[in-house]
Amino acid sequence: MAGWERVTLLGADFLLMREGGVSFLHSMGERDYREHLERERLRKALGLSCLVKARQVHGDMVLEAGGIKGEGEADGLLLSLQDREMGIAVLTADCLPLLMAAPQHLLLLHVGWRGLARGIVHKGIEMMKGLYSDVENFKIYFGPYIKRCCYRVGWDMIGELRRSLPPEVVEAGMKRDWRGLSFSLGDAISKILELEGMGFSLKDSGFCTCCSGLFPSYRREGEGTPRMINLAWREIW
Ligand SMILES: [Zn+2]
Repeated sequence: MAGWERVTLLGADFLLMREGGVSFLHSMGERDYREHLERERLRKALGLSCLVKARQVHGDMVLEAGGIKGEGEADGLLLSLQDREMGIAVLTADCLPLLMAAPQHLLLLHVGWRGLARGIVHKGIEMMKGLYSDVENFKIYFGPYIKRCCYRVGWDMIGELRRSLPPEVVEAGMKRDWRGLSFSLGDAISKILELEGMGFSLKDSGFCTCCSGLFPSYRREGEGTPRMINLAWREIW
């Protein structure tokens, strides 16, 4: 897929996107990155002095990574260029890891349908707009997530999304066909970005966590599914 390539680190496979000094790394396979030890091994292998992970609550909180040690209760992290040698991470098993790269900042969000309904994407955009007057050319990346092919949903979920999101966003995400109702987090988020005047430079890894069989998938594996790590950092020159 454009921009992403497979790499081996610590004897395991990862998917890595590198562009303009920004790296976005996704673990493959069944290693569970809820384990502190696994994250520490990875941090050391990448030469990062510090790794901040979001302790996710499916809400809309975005925290500045610079002031956090280890974990912050949030679904989004903001990394400033001055936080050198620092990485930020969200863990997923089907949710969408979204990275926004601005000249002086990286914003990393964990977006599931609940976070989407609670406004995590809008919150992230608002934060960036508070920092920059010109947000059109930010680069946006979607890591692996469950795609429409595997994301069968119910009307109750659509109803909840409709209560909090603009109608065109829900419409962009949902689709009805002979197999029933499906939803695309990627299409819904793309519509939000479009409405906000962003997303002209959007890249998607192309992988579905569920049917590719390459990543942990809650939909495929159920309870006890390991969590993959989605880690972003800036290259240290
Ligand atoms: Zn699929």
